[in-house]
Amino acid sequence: MQVLILNSGSSSLKFQLFSMPKETILCSGVVERIGFNDAILRFKTDKGSIELESKILNHKTALKLVAQHLLDKDTGIIKSPKDIAIVGHRVVHGGIFFSKPTLITEDVKEKIKTLASLAPLHNPANLEGIIVAEDIFPKAKQVAVFDTAFLQTIPEVAYKYAIPNEFLTEHHIRLYGFHGTSHKYVSEKAIEFLGKEESKIITIHLGNGCSMTAIKNGKSIDHSMGFSPLDGLIMGTRSGDIDPSIIFHLKDKLGYSLKETNTLLNKKSGMLGLTGYNDLRDIETMAARGNKECILALQMNAYRIKKYIGSYAAVLNGLDAIVFTAGIGENCKLMRQLVCENLDFLGIHLDVEKNNSDLRTIRAINKEDSKARILVIPTNEELEIAKQTVNLIKN
Ligand code: ADP
Repeated sequence: MQVLILNSGSSSLKFQLFSMPKETILCSGVVERIGFNDAILRFKTDKGSIELESKILNHKTALKLVAQHLLDKDTGIIKSPKDIAIVGHRVVHGGIFFSKPTLITEDVKEKIKTLASLAPLHNPANLEGIIVAEDIFPKAKQVAVFDTAFLQTIPEVAYKYAIPNEFLTEHHIRLYGFHGTSHKYVSEKAIEFLGKEESKIITIHLGNGCSMTAIKNGKSIDHSMGFSPLDGLIMGTRSGDIDPSIIFHLKDKLGYSLKETNTLLNKKSGMLGLTGYNDLRDIETMAARGNKECILALQMNAYRIKKYIGSYAAVLNGLDAIVFTAGIGENCKLMRQLVCENLDFLGIHLDVEKNNSDLRTIRAINKEDSKARILVIPTNEELEIAKQTVNLIKN
């Protein structure tokens, strides 16, 4: 069965085609800079890679171009759009409506649209991807998998903000959390690795966006992002936790408009704001050359993660493992080392040699006598979405 996974962003469309249940990737790629004359399609199969620049003004044109390459008699891998049995869509915000993968109906689309006010950068693009896919692959089942779904088990004590109750009941202002698909995928792999269903795990997803989840016996019980993906850890361009009064100060005293403040905190802060660099590889290089801002930014980043580890170990009342994942978590030895330093009171002891290995598989990097395991688990959100969509359709 061929399953196409789509992840539509505001100006991009990522895709992967799987043969399930074998989990073989038949094709993967991305269309970037949608809306511009110089958009780029990257398309990769066993037969080779294609990269082409073209005017792609909307998601419909982007997906049509992808479909055209999938169907191409030389470079393609399917004969007809009917070969695609399921299209699985990553949808960022499922609000309080969706805690499971869901077959897309008119009602589901309406709800995703309603939730656009909670995820203005993501849900409209996700919905656009769904509408376009229905048009291009009319015979396929369309399934939505929500980033927030895995985090719907977080209890009220953790998801409710201490503001008047009607903001929760009438306006649904609460912690939702994001990256749920990744946290679910790596926590299940961790449980398998530990061979222990009853477990206390902290998953640490460090990519451009960064978040952490406290997971007890396979269920999420707390999470570092909140009402939006701006909260929590220091990220590539997002500030993470700040005192909300800073926003009033920016507006009232420094003359920032709300739009400018939004841009400042989401796009110009985090590691970029601290160092002038967004990519952690550049920051590491500069830190190694003695750049003080980069050294401090790395320390601040690790310090924030440590604080969350401490608080999650407390709410879990123990700790079996911490799990590093995503671009930085999987690849950045220095960040893992800074995070794990001086956490021996929690039974966390990093094995420096294992941490420095370049293995790309699931692995433990703790010392033999470490009470808590330290795991590195490559995430695979697309595969997780493919598995969830197939399970839904089978059942
Ligand atoms: P996204 O959130 O866009 O999916 P990724 O999970 O791909 O992001 O992570 C992207 C980030 O991972 C990059 O910004 C980069 O900082 C970091 N990264 C990737 N490889 C390395 C590496 N070898 N060392 C340090 N950081 C890395």
